[in-house]
Amino acid sequence: MDYFNYKKGGLYAENVPLAEIADAVGTPFYCYSSATLERHYAVFSESLAPLDRLVCYAVKANSNIAVIKILAKLGAGADVVSEGEIRRALAAGVPAKKIVFSGVGKTAAEMGFALKTGIYQFNVESEPELFALNEVAESLGKKAPIAFRVNPDIDSGSHKKISTGRKEDKFGIAFADVQNIYDKAKKLKNIEVKGISTHIGSQIMDIAPFARAFAKIRELAEELKAHGTNIERIDLGGGLGIPYYGSDNPPSPRDYADVVKKVMHGLDCKFIFEPGRLIAGNSGILVSKLVYVKNSGGRIFYILDAGMNDLIRPSFYDAYHEIISVKKSTAKKQLVDIVGPVCETGDVFAIQREMPAMKPGDLVAFRSAGAYGATMSSTYNSRPLIPEILVQGGKFAVIRKKLTYDEILASEKIPGWLK
Ligand SMILES: *Cc1c(COP(=O)(O)O)cnc(C)c1O
Repeated sequence: MDYFNYKKGGLYAENVPLAEIADAVGTPFYCYSSATLERHYAVFSESLAPLDRLVCYAVKANSNIAVIKILAKLGAGADVVSEGEIRRALAAGVPAKKIVFSGVGKTAAEMGFALKTGIYQFNVESEPELFALNEVAESLGKKAPIAFRVNPDIDSGSHKKISTGRKEDKFGIAFADVQNIYDKAKKLKNIEVKGISTHIGSQIMDIAPFARAFAKIRELAEELKAHGTNIERIDLGGGLGIPYYGSDNPPSPRDYADVVKKVMHGLDCKFIFEPGRLIAGNSGILVSKLVYVKNSGGRIFYILDAGMNDLIRPSFYDAYHEIISVKKSTAKKQLVDIVGPVCETGDVFAIQREMPAMKPGDLVAFRSAGAYGATMSSTYNSRPLIPEILVQGGKFAVIRKKLTYDEILASEKIPGWLK
């Protein structure tokens, strides 16, 4: 459920007409709904009651500090994968004690920054990373709280580029090596073992892979505890899917929570969750303008002012986004290809999509663009990153401005020998 609806013949974000925002800031732009973000967080967290839990929003889904702030005010922690994301979480008011640091390639500099900040937990993904962290912690006179990220060898059934829990994926400690690495960690003076973590993928549309993975993690937790290892926290990652197609029917937060509670029943631990897409995905849209309608080779192309550099999911993951006219249209439907202006054949958002007849200057909105949209954008073709707008009730604010061409060029320099 979201708060992007038609009223008075036009699409609104909460109580603000999108056409009004387009007039004020130009197109394309991302627009996020505060009420939707709040609702998704609340539904997820409340479904998991009464478990002792910390919901760490996965910042990479949408890392604008205003978005993180909304969630921080509701009590969310943050799951981060870089120093930049730690800095964003802190800037948004997430206490260090609620930050979990994931990722396979944490550098010594990033670990040092995280340790000085006093984060809650490092999710360690390999033996070399464990030893590197111990060394950095020793040099700072600190103890690093860790969980090992375990790879449960479960296929999440999602797209191959967003599956992370199969043994051939780069993530986590292989199941067979788990006992051994905990034994090594226990001997390190500057490491404090706190628990286990896992994360099997993203946009998961079936509850069964979660149930299988969580059962394996529970069994492992029991074995490790029996072996004298301190397992007081279990981090179950993120990955719950959201509807992109109207007919999509992902497990609800309630279904997911029921599985967690059933599988983990009676285990005395604190539980950590890392939802990203579930919180942000349907809380945002991308608004773009039709630049040209081109008839060529027997096809109709709607050429937009947004490109794959602004929203890469369709070209990168073959992802589907619902694309709708911002002005409610009763015009006859036709099959069109919806494309961007970038000089790449892959800069295509939709092929043979049924759309009303539209003309240059008309606005379209991509639904479900709040997660892995702005955060995956680039300046390819020297196209400036587009603005991000936050709506709350009847008001809106620019939460990331568009850089001017001068600001972009100012960061580059021609060396003296070329002058
Ligand atoms: C990306 C990621 C998440 C969030 O995944 P969603 O599918 O957006 O919920 C959580 N944990 C880790 C370790 C991740 O890499």
